[in-house]
Amino acid sequence: MADLYDLLTNPNVRAALKQAWSESQPGASRAHEEGGFIVERTSGEMRVVRWPRGSGRTIEVPPHHGCQVAGMDIVASFHTHPNVGADFLQEPSETDRRAVRDDPDLKGAEYAGELVISAALVYGVTPFGRVVELGSTEDMLL
Ligand SMILES: [Zn+2]
Repeated sequence: MADLYDLLTNPNVRAALKQAWSESQPGASRAHEEGGFIVERTSGEMRVVRWPRGSGRTIEVPPHHGCQVAGMDIVASFHTHPNVGADFLQEPSETDRRAVRDDPDLKGAEYAGELVISAALVYGVTPFGRVVELGSTEDMLL
Protein backbone atom coordinates (compact mmCIF):
# COMPACT_ATOMS: atom_id res chain seq x y z
CA MET A 1 0.00 0.00 0.00
CA ALA A 2 1.18 3.53 -0.73
CA ASP A 3 1.68 5.87 2.21
CA LEU A 4 -0.20 9.20 2.34
CA TYR A 5 2.70 10.99 3.95
CA ASP A 6 5.18 9.69 1.34
CA LEU A 7 2.85 10.74 -1.48
CA LEU A 8 3.01 14.32 -0.19
CA THR A 9 6.77 14.30 -0.74
CA ASN A 10 6.39 13.32 -4.42
CA PRO A 11 7.05 16.43 -6.59
CA ASN A 12 4.37 15.58 -9.20
CA VAL A 13 1.79 15.01 -6.50
CA ARG A 14 2.73 18.15 -4.57
CA ALA A 15 2.56 20.33 -7.68
CA ALA A 16 -0.86 18.94 -8.61
CA LEU A 17 -2.24 19.34 -5.08
CA LYS A 18 -0.92 22.85 -4.87
CA GLN A 19 -2.60 23.71 -8.16
CA ALA A 20 -5.92 22.15 -7.08
CA TRP A 21 -5.76 24.06 -3.78
CA SER A 22 -5.18 27.34 -5.56
CA GLU A 23 -7.96 26.64 -8.10
CA SER A 24 -10.41 26.02 -5.27
CA GLN A 25 -10.01 29.74 -4.40
CA PRO A 26 -9.54 29.27 -0.65
CA GLY A 27 -11.17 31.92 1.49
CA ALA A 28 -12.76 33.69 -1.48
CA SER A 29 -16.51 34.09 -1.96
CA ARG A 30 -16.18 31.76 -4.96
CA ALA A 31 -14.40 29.07 -2.97
CA HIS A 32 -15.39 25.58 -4.14
CA GLU A 33 -14.07 22.08 -3.65
CA GLU A 34 -11.62 20.51 -6.08
CA GLY A 35 -10.35 16.96 -5.97
CA GLY A 36 -8.84 14.06 -7.83
CA PHE A 37 -7.27 10.64 -7.87
CA ILE A 38 -3.56 10.05 -7.44
CA VAL A 39 -2.66 7.19 -9.78
CA GLU A 40 0.48 5.21 -10.45
CA ARG A 41 1.56 4.53 -14.01
CA THR A 42 3.17 1.22 -14.88
CA SER A 43 6.48 3.13 -15.02
CA GLY A 44 6.01 3.92 -11.32
CA GLU A 45 5.41 7.60 -12.03
CA MET A 46 2.69 9.28 -9.94
CA ARG A 47 0.07 11.39 -11.69
CA VAL A 48 -3.08 13.17 -10.69
CA VAL A 49 -6.39 12.72 -12.53
CA ARG A 50 -8.67 15.57 -11.51
CA TRP A 51 -12.39 15.30 -10.77
CA PRO A 52 -14.86 17.77 -12.25
CA ARG A 53 -15.01 20.97 -10.20
CA GLY A 54 -17.16 20.74 -7.07
CA SER A 55 -19.50 23.22 -5.43
CA GLY A 56 -19.13 25.27 -2.25
CA ARG A 57 -18.92 22.38 0.10
CA THR A 58 -19.36 19.15 -1.83
CA ILE A 59 -17.76 17.37 -4.73
CA GLU A 60 -18.86 14.37 -6.81
CA VAL A 61 -16.42 11.52 -7.21
CA PRO A 62 -16.43 10.21 -10.80
CA PRO A 63 -16.64 6.43 -11.46
CA HIS A 64 -13.54 4.44 -10.49
CA HIS A 65 -14.48 0.81 -10.90
CA GLY A 66 -12.09 -1.65 -9.31
CA CYS A 67 -10.08 1.21 -7.76
CA GLN A 68 -8.77 2.16 -11.21
CA VAL A 69 -9.13 5.11 -13.54
CA ALA A 70 -8.03 5.02 -17.21
CA GLY A 71 -6.46 1.62 -16.51
CA MET A 72 -4.19 2.97 -13.76
CA ASP A 73 -4.30 1.93 -10.11
CA ILE A 74 -5.60 4.57 -7.71
CA VAL A 75 -3.14 4.96 -4.84
CA ALA A 76 -4.97 7.82 -3.10
CA SER A 77 -7.72 10.38 -3.59
CA PHE A 78 -7.94 13.95 -2.39
CA HIS A 79 -10.26 16.92 -2.10
CA THR A 80 -9.99 20.45 -0.79
CA HIS A 81 -11.88 22.24 1.99
CA PRO A 82 -11.37 25.82 0.79
CA ASN A 83 -14.01 27.48 2.98
CA VAL A 84 -12.44 29.20 5.94
CA GLY A 85 -14.22 30.58 8.99
CA ALA A 86 -16.07 29.23 11.98
CA ASP A 87 -19.14 28.18 9.97
CA PHE A 88 -17.17 25.59 8.05
CA LEU A 89 -15.68 22.32 9.15
CA GLN A 90 -11.99 22.20 8.30
CA GLU A 91 -11.36 18.55 9.10
CA PRO A 92 -12.86 15.64 7.13
CA SER A 93 -16.60 15.34 7.78
CA GLU A 94 -18.47 12.23 8.81
CA THR A 95 -19.66 12.03 5.19
CA ASP A 96 -16.05 12.24 3.97
CA ARG A 97 -15.05 9.41 6.30
CA ARG A 98 -17.95 7.19 5.25
CA ALA A 99 -17.39 7.92 1.57
CA VAL A 100 -13.90 6.44 1.83
CA ARG A 101 -14.66 3.62 4.23
CA ASP A 102 -17.84 2.41 2.51
CA ASP A 103 -16.74 2.67 -1.13
CA PRO A 104 -16.15 -0.84 -2.53
CA ASP A 105 -14.20 0.76 -5.41
CA LEU A 106 -11.68 2.29 -3.02
CA LYS A 107 -10.41 -1.03 -1.75
CA GLY A 108 -7.48 -1.61 -4.11
CA ALA A 109 -4.33 -3.16 -2.63
CA GLU A 110 -2.41 0.09 -3.29
CA TYR A 111 -5.08 2.49 -2.02
CA ALA A 112 -3.73 4.52 0.93
CA GLY A 113 -6.74 6.74 1.65
CA GLU A 114 -7.95 10.25 0.93
CA LEU A 115 -6.13 13.52 1.54
CA VAL A 116 -8.23 16.49 2.65
CA ILE A 117 -6.52 19.85 2.23
CA SER A 118 -7.70 22.71 4.44
CA ALA A 119 -6.18 26.15 4.92
CA ALA A 120 -4.28 25.12 8.05
CA LEU A 121 -3.76 21.36 7.89
CA VAL A 122 -3.55 18.45 5.50
CA TYR A 123 -5.60 15.55 6.84
CA GLY A 124 -5.73 11.93 5.80
CA VAL A 125 -8.72 9.59 5.87
CA THR A 126 -7.51 6.00 6.06
CA PRO A 127 -9.29 3.26 4.07
CA PHE A 128 -10.99 2.36 7.37
CA GLY A 129 -12.36 5.88 7.77
CA ARG A 130 -10.01 7.09 10.50
CA VAL A 131 -8.82 10.71 10.35
CA VAL A 132 -5.13 11.56 10.80
CA GLU A 133 -3.35 14.93 10.73
CA LEU A 134 -0.44 14.81 8.28
CA GLY A 135 0.96 18.30 8.80
CA SER A 136 0.65 21.98 8.05
CA THR A 137 -0.61 22.89 4.57
CA GLU A 138 1.96 25.66 4.33
CA ASP A 139 4.84 23.27 5.06
CA MET A 140 3.56 20.47 2.86
CA LEU A 141 2.23 22.30 -0.18
CA LEU A 142 2.92 25.99 -0.33
ZN1 LIG B 1 -14.90 17.05 2.52
